[in-house]
Formats: sequence, C-alpha cells, structure tokens
Amino acid sequence: MSKKTFTLGIFGGGQLGKFLVEAAKKLNIRTFVFTDSPDSPAIYYSDDFIISSYKDKKKLDFFIKNIDLATFEFENIPFKTLDYIEEKINVSPKPSIIKILQDRLKEKTFLKSIGIKTTEFYYLKKINKKNLNDNIFPILVKTIRLGYDGKGQVFFKNKKDFVKYSFKNKDYIIEKLIDFKKEISIIISRYKTKSVSFDAFENLHKHQILQKSHVPANISPKLNNQAKEIAKKIADKLNYIGTMCVEFFVTRKNELLVNEIAPRVHNSGHLTLNAHNVSQFENHIRAVCNLKFKKPKRIHKAVMYNILGHDIKKYRSKETINNEFFYDYGKKEIKDKRKMGHLTKIF
Ligand code: AMP
Repeated sequence: MSKKTFTLGIFGGGQLGKFLVEAAKKLNIRTFVFTDSPDSPAIYYSDDFIISSYKDKKKLDFFIKNIDLATFEFENIPFKTLDYIEEKINVSPKPSIIKILQDRLKEKTFLKSIGIKTTEFYYLKKINKKNLNDNIFPILVKTIRLGYDGKGQVFFKNKKDFVKYSFKNKDYIIEKLIDFKKEISIIISRYKTKSVSFDAFENLHKHQILQKSHVPANISPKLNNQAKEIAKKIADKLNYIGTMCVEFFVTRKNELLVNEIAPRVHNSGHLTLNAHNVSQFENHIRAVCNLKFKKPKRIHKAVMYNILGHDIKKYRSKETINNEFFYDYGKKEIKDKRKMGHLTKIF
C-alpha cells in the first residue's frame, strides 16, 4: 500500500464510521478503518480496513504506518491502545480526552470541576450503601466504563432494594434519577482556531436507547444558547479538536444538567445529513484535518427515527416517499435493539 495522499485512520467501523468515510471521500481524503468486528458497515466504503483486536500491536503498527492522522468513531478503545497510538501518530481528539470521557466518574468529576451541573452522583466504592441519603432515591447505578444504550445500568426505587443488591465489583456510579422535561443534545465541532455548533436536537429515548431526534428542539432561544455555551466551555476546557456531542436533561425548572459527553459524532446528529448545509460528519473531518470550517445552518425541519433489530426488514420492503431518507447500515447480523438503520423525514 502506498501513502500517496493524505489518509485518515478511523478507529471503529460502525455506522458513524461509514458516514465519516463518506464525508471524507467528498473532501478527497483517503480513509483506513481499524475495527474489531467483521460486521462493520464502514469497511465497505473505506479505502482500506483492518479487522483485528484493538490490542494487536503488529496490526496497530501497520495501521499507523499507513495513515497520517487517526480519529475515532467509537470511544471504548482499550487504554493501552490509546497510550500506544498517542506516542506514535497524531490523534484527534487526544487519547487523554477519550480517557476522561470513557469513564462516567472522571467525566462527571471533570464537569463539576469546571462548574457545569450534572445529576447528583456518587462512586459506589467510596460510599457506605447504608449511609446514602434517602432523598437521592430513585437512582440509576451505572458501570463506570463500557456502558452505553442502557447496558450495565440498574434502577433502584428505594434504599432497601439497593442495600440488598450485590454488585459484581464496585466500579459503579450512582446517579439520582432525574424527572426531566425533555432531553436535548448539542453537537459541536472544535477546530484549532474556533468552534461551530448546531442548534439543539431534541431527543426521545426508550429503554435508554435513542428512539427519535428532531429539529428544531422545542425550547426557548435562551436555553438553546445556554446549552451551546456549555458545550463550548467543555470543548474549550478539554482543548478538544473534532466533533463531540453533549447530552443534556432539561429539568422541570428549565435547568440544564449534562448527562454525558460523547467524544465523537453522535446518533442524534444523523439528521444533519439531510436537514443542514453541512453534516456533523463533514464537520468532524474538516476539524480534525484542519480544513476550513463550515458554520452549520438548518435548511429543513426534520425528524429522525432509529431502526432497531428486526424492524429493519419492514423498512427494507417499504417505499420511501419524497421527503424521507432511509439509511440501511447493511449490518449482516440482526439483533434485538441493534441499530440497523435510520429514517429521516424533512419538512
Ligand atoms: P446513558 O447511558 O447515561 O446515556 O443514558 C441513556 C438514557 O437513559 C438517557 O438519555 C436518559 O433517557 C436515561 N437516563 C440516564 N441517566 C439518567 C438519570 N440520571 N435520570 C434520568 N434518566 C436517565
């Protein structure tokens, strides 16, 4: 393989990777995907790919030799791999940032340290279960690492059940369950010299999995700006380069609490492919490759529905109408709750 043109290496090969690869192609950038799964949509679109464990140093060396810069579509990369690549190649965003945002406790502690509000939280290891204040219940207990789409989460309505429950280990974060009004997210792309963000997306989750996102979010311009300011503060404090997503709860009192930060493009931004002048994916490529920034502008109102598991079969045989855009990720294995595709409607 020759390294004639600029090649962007992407860790992870899911649908986010597929859309990143397509955005890169549009900007004449070669892509090389490193994934640990053969059932990875991005490999059908990228110029090159490797299917290997993220821990295989020989494969990592080969990957590094053949790329100019690395980025992520997936943050749960082993720490050792993050350290290894950081020493050998330019990576955006920086692995040290991924390490903070991969870990719910570090993430929330960081947010607290910069004065940003989150849900009330405790580290299971550092508390005596019996002493936990009754007022915090109901709670969600989440694994600190590797939990997403509700994986690794246990709900407790009262202290009695919580005290009785035995956890496998103590690497859990305890969070107060928020009775929120709605959930929104801000997708921000930070370039070396400035950052740009989309207005808020309004998100609906079912069983902790994103079901639907729409724009514009039904919130006041003031709240929208506040959310954008918070996202900017986070990106600036982290010295982040690339696109990231900040997810918020809007409380009954119209207060913004950050739920979590994804150090990558995000599912709630899929509708930017059809509703905006520039997609979150293109802006990520532009930011990490240090190209000219594009300020996002919404052209249409839009709604995006995630298609999970076997529902994809229904959509595959259905005709789409004029204002609908159906995306089939082409995953071979259909599993319950697996994200198989999405449908965006513009208005
Ligand atoms: P997470 O895995 O933290 O992204 O959570 C996924 C979804 O679960 C969120 O978008 C919320 O809908 C719900 N959720 C997570 N944490 C809380 C919480 N502390 N209070 C209320 N709902 C939550």
